[in-house]
Amino acid sequence: MKTLLPNNVFCSTFGHNYFKVKNVNSETSEIVCKCCGNKFLSTSQGDVLQISFGNNDIETLIDYLDFQEHRFRKKTA
Ligand SMILES: [Zn+2]
Repeated sequence: MKTLLPNNVFCSTFGHNYFKVKNVNSETSEIVCKCCGNKFLSTSQGDVLQISFGNNDIETLIDYLDFQEHRFRKKTA
């Protein structure tokens, strides 16, 4: 069973210290915790999903979606 508690003592006590890194698309942005370095996705509905469980496939997918969005914007512009 995987625990959802952060490993960092500061984050466990006070919560993550989020910092916005980039917009993945118009409704989703990538944020990172300044204290523990974990990466999250923030949606326009206010949901925060942790994405850095050591699974590089998700980060690769996010980079791919980011690339496709830029490609789509170039086509429509
Ligand atoms: Zn943290």
